[in-house]
Amino acid sequence: MGLLSGKTALITGASKGIGRAIAIRYAQEGANVAFTYLSSVEKGQALENELAAFGIQAKGYRSDASDFKAAEELVNSVVADFGSLDILVNNAGITRDNLLMRMSEEAWDEVIGVNLKSCFNTVKAATRTMMKAKAGSIINITSVVGIKGNAGQANYAASKSGIIGFTKSVALELGSRNIRCNAVAPGFIETEMTAVLDEKTVQGWRDGIPMKRGGQPEEVANACVFLGSDMSSYISGQVLQVDGAMLT
Ligand code: NAP
Repeated sequence: MGLLSGKTALITGASKGIGRAIAIRYAQEGANVAFTYLSSVEKGQALENELAAFGIQAKGYRSDASDFKAAEELVNSVVADFGSLDILVNNAGITRDNLLMRMSEEAWDEVIGVNLKSCFNTVKAATRTMMKAKAGSIINITSVVGIKGNAGQANYAASKSGIIGFTKSVALELGSRNIRCNAVAPGFIETEMTAVLDEKTVQGWRDGIPMKRGGQPEEVANACVFLGSDMSSYISGQVLQVDGAMLT
């Protein structure tokens, strides 16, 4: 018996990086896993087979997290295909970094849409099912940047701070329905999103972290296993930093 046996989870943006690690850890813990992707179609389809090999029900859906209507259709499909929805992980995210002076309106809107509005979209669509079940765990992936701010990432930091305010409000509104809502704030996690950065910059970041290394996607996924499971049944409205004491 895994920590998530019998539960159905929906994870957005699982074709790579942290989302992919969450999907795999959830499947290992016995959850049935629905997940989304957008541009990485082949990777998404490959993940579906990889997850099914754990003996759970798995299905990938191509769905744009920033699209309100698409999120509603997605959640309806998941509930129809899986019969329930117990855990929602809002992980889909992008960066469009630039100094404020050079940041375009498109770069602002795109980041807010994919990172922040996406949480509103799926939570709004999922709460009906969770309220009926009188149970649910919602996990929103924010960032230490959403707590501290970051030069060159005003759009990203704003979207991640917004997620924290949203998470706490959902926890307050839906607590009486036994729906929990928490945020996970990764620090520097080594994924494809960070692999595009130059090695010297990356080493500089590693050196500045008290634990002297970047985190692995699985280390964020493990926090999501805890928050998705009944192990955290009285924890809601929290922001759990997974950052090697980077922001302490
Ligand atoms: P990543 O490797 O770039 O993966 C991002 C995922 O999001 C991909 O699966 C991508 O799918 C999906 N995605 C992007 N736009 C989407 C959209 N419009 N609709 C649906 N899915 C979409 O990034 P990551 O590093 O794993 O980051 C995952 C989350 O953790 C993000 O929210 C990020 O902000 C957060 N985070 C990361 C770090 C870090 O150090 N890596 C630190 C703090 C927070 P497709 O490729 O199929 O489009």
